[in-house]
Amino acid sequence: MQNLFQNAMVQLDKVVQMKNFSREDGPVSGWSELITRLQQPDRDIRISIPVKMDDGTLKIFEGYRVEYNNTLGPYKGGIRYHPETEINEVKALAFWMVLKCAVVGIPMGGGKGGVTVDPKKLSKNELERLSRGWARGLSDVLGPHKDVPAPDVNTTPEIMTWIADEYSKITGDTTGAVITGKPLSGGGSEGRDTSTAQGGFYVFDALQKELGLPEVCRVVVQGFGNVGSNVAEIFTQRGHKVAAISDSKGGIYNNEGLNIEKLLEYKKTTGSLFDFPGSRNITNEELLKTECDLLIPAAFENQITVENASEIKAKAVLELANGPTTPEADEILFKKNIPVIPDILANSGGVTVSYFEWVQNLKNEHWSEKEVFEKLEPMLKNASLEILEKAHKSNTHLRMGAFIRALERIKEKMV
Ligand code: GLU
Repeated sequence: MQNLFQNAMVQLDKVVQMKNFSREDGPVSGWSELITRLQQPDRDIRISIPVKMDDGTLKIFEGYRVEYNNTLGPYKGGIRYHPETEINEVKALAFWMVLKCAVVGIPMGGGKGGVTVDPKKLSKNELERLSRGWARGLSDVLGPHKDVPAPDVNTTPEIMTWIADEYSKITGDTTGAVITGKPLSGGGSEGRDTSTAQGGFYVFDALQKELGLPEVCRVVVQGFGNVGSNVAEIFTQRGHKVAAISDSKGGIYNNEGLNIEKLLEYKKTTGSLFDFPGSRNITNEELLKTECDLLIPAAFENQITVENASEIKAKAVLELANGPTTPEADEILFKKNIPVIPDILANSGGVTVSYFEWVQNLKNEHWSEKEVFEKLEPMLKNASLEILEKAHKSNTHLRMGAFIRALERIKEKMV
């Protein structure tokens, strides 16, 4: 797998070359200082987490927190539990969080955390001890005004509660604002669980006509986790057709559109998507190359690469995963006139509602789901149109447009 942090730095470098920042403002201008600052995180922390396993043995897990940049506010970003999680991945994801928060204009910086672990191999009690261990190991760097984690791949609202509880025991802070993505009963926000998918839909809605997409789109979704399944449901409810969807094992295809509600039931009972009545089984690779109006990668990074980009037959790509398209693939798609709505815009609904949760916790308020989405929609739609304009002005793709908008916001505040 390509080193994700290198991909992220290639993207940053492209903006620098394109905008020619240093020439514009002289060698020690605000721009070049900003770029230099963003070439590495403020700090990356690795911890060993000792966990007493159910069989009585002690196992050490490696945990991370990367605090990338806090110019706009406290470090903000999820925690990922995955067997392949390593520091370069977490660094890249933390860097993208900095830009994501800036793109949508929330007062948060960027960070990311993780543990190298396959959570499916742990019992619930082991998972709880691991999560509490992560919180203990990092309790002095976390804090409502310092660093505020959230869920990411394989981490759940329940895990957020364990971390909040452990932090509260150590520090006495009872606001719950140290972490977002908590369950409603534990101080979470209405709408947080569907916010990434819902936000993705708002972004699509703002750009659909501008990108020349038809009124009813044939949509293909990679991923059937929280984001993939919710976005498939939302697009179906809005009258679009989800023709193919996959999970990590592979996917299914039905030209007429899949019934997502029934598919959720089916996966619950059979444990897989395969052989869903009325559909044909396909591989993840086939899924990415399916002819459609909108391809939504909603699983992992590095999916659209130099190997398959030239065979993508979608009219547009909406990145709900982080980093699903490599920089080389970006260029291929741009030449093929396939717009890619970048992750730092497309999936920013999640962190935006996380920010709403943080505000509610600090003010001791509870907003209705209607209020949450009424606040979210205009924020994401405005950001989408601003980015489209930036991209057009610089004759570049939407990712660069988003980078430019984000960097402008950070630069305004950087001293
Ligand atoms: N993990 C999500 C992301 O990548 C959400 C982060 C957050 O809510 O802080 O955007």
